[in-house]
Amino acid sequence: MTHSRIGVMGGSFDPIHHGHLVAASEVAHRFSLDRVLFSPTGQAWHKQSANAASPELRYLMTVVATAGDPRFDVTRVDIDRPGPTYTVDTLRDLQAGFGRAHPQDTADWFFITGADALAEVVAWRDPDGILERAHLIGVTRPGHVLRDPGLAAGSATLVEVPALAISSTDVRARVARGEPIGYLVPDGVAHLIAKHRLYAAP
Ligand code: ATP
Ligand code: MG
Repeated sequence: MTHSRIGVMGGSFDPIHHGHLVAASEVAHRFSLDRVLFSPTGQAWHKQSANAASPELRYLMTVVATAGDPRFDVTRVDIDRPGPTYTVDTLRDLQAGFGRAHPQDTADWFFITGADALAEVVAWRDPDGILERAHLIGVTRPGHVLRDPGLAAGSATLVEVPALAISSTDVRARVARGEPIGYLVPDGVAHLIAKHRLYAAP
């Protein structure tokens, strides 16, 4: 029987950028996580943008961005589940899958969110179900104040990570304006954006 410490980072990853990767890497180091699973959302329930990339391309960009890091993996649970993505379902599906694949093993689960997302956790579907399944880790993000949104004591930990003022919204806008995105996203992600002509102005 082995015991693992597993981080989960959900997001639309439209596209994944170095802010996501630095946050996951820093939390993996600080919390001695064995792995971090990136889970691209299916249909995002809280945002619909006209020039959003398809779930499959968001998944592919996430795979390419994380391929070189042995701690990182990408899961399709949210992409493959019909309907909007709720974090409680992400955790339930991942934990059920883990139990089936490793019936003898146990795991501690950590859900990683940036300061903006942490502030919204109380409004997410079934926040108590989320907290039963995972410890929340809120990370600093430039432009947002990191504070515990009034969760039960001990259910979230706030962590300072190296500040990268990068957002997917800004990357998409840069592409639409013909501005460079090098060093904001991994090279492979920039190549996929160019190859599939993502985020171009209509
Ligand atoms: P968008 O602008 O489309 O909302 P985003 O950059 O916020 O994109 P998401 O996919 O929405 O990226 O974010 C997934 C998770 O990563 C969220 O928890 C978010 O807070 C966190 N995150 C995103 N960018 C950063 C960053 N630069 N630093 C720290 N955390 C981040
Ligand atoms: Mg966001």
